[in-house]
Amino acid sequence: MNQVQQQTSSVIFSFFGPPGSGKGTLAERLRVELGFEILSTGNLCRFHIAQQTPLGKQLEELVHKGHLIPDALMFSMVKAWLDERLSKGKPVILDGFPRTPGQATALIEHLNKTRHNHFRVVFIELADEEIIKRLLGRKVCSNKDCQAIYSAIHTGVTCEQCGAPLVRRVDDKEEVIRERLRLYPAYKESLLTMYRNLAVRIEELDVAGMSMDEVFGTFKAML
Ligand SMILES: [Zn+2]
Repeated sequence: MNQVQQQTSSVIFSFFGPPGSGKGTLAERLRVELGFEILSTGNLCRFHIAQQTPLGKQLEELVHKGHLIPDALMFSMVKAWLDERLSKGKPVILDGFPRTPGQATALIEHLNKTRHNHFRVVFIELADEEIIKRLLGRKVCSNKDCQAIYSAIHTGVTCEQCGAPLVRRVDDKEEVIRERLRLYPAYKESLLTMYRNLAVRIEELDVAGMSMDEVFGTFKAML
């Protein structure tokens, strides 16, 4: 085990950031290079439904009726996922979780009970104009079976995986992006208030003008 892995074992990070901030790309790199396990609640819900676990059956019924998923049910799934990773000493990133005060309170209570004290919340920051520039510059492979996504800094015109031409992503319309970004500051503020009340350690990582290597390096230095 190298030094970085020792330092990061059992650390839990909760990642938040506006769409286009590079949050997902950073998480993926931490998974590949430092062995972080990434929680996506969407994938977790799909897994439970597909496996028809007792929680999955409850979930399926709620989704079918068009009801929201209660915090207690969501946390039951997250808790099982998290405990399994922590028991193996794995560092963890909760991508966009917890997103409600109920989920956050349940998580903090659970961590206190298990005497876990390495929980940190990271807000990835990027100015709206830079996000718009990045998202509008994104390209996607025109091959329907491939659909690989390329960032704005990618200069090639064909897909590196299948050779098909690259095209602009259709959902990356400026007004759609601006609408999503318009909602973000109020959402962030509500999360900040919640975490301050729970006395959780908060980090803000401004990635303006940084390459992915620089973002990765800056994050590694925070570990
Ligand atoms: Zn392709």
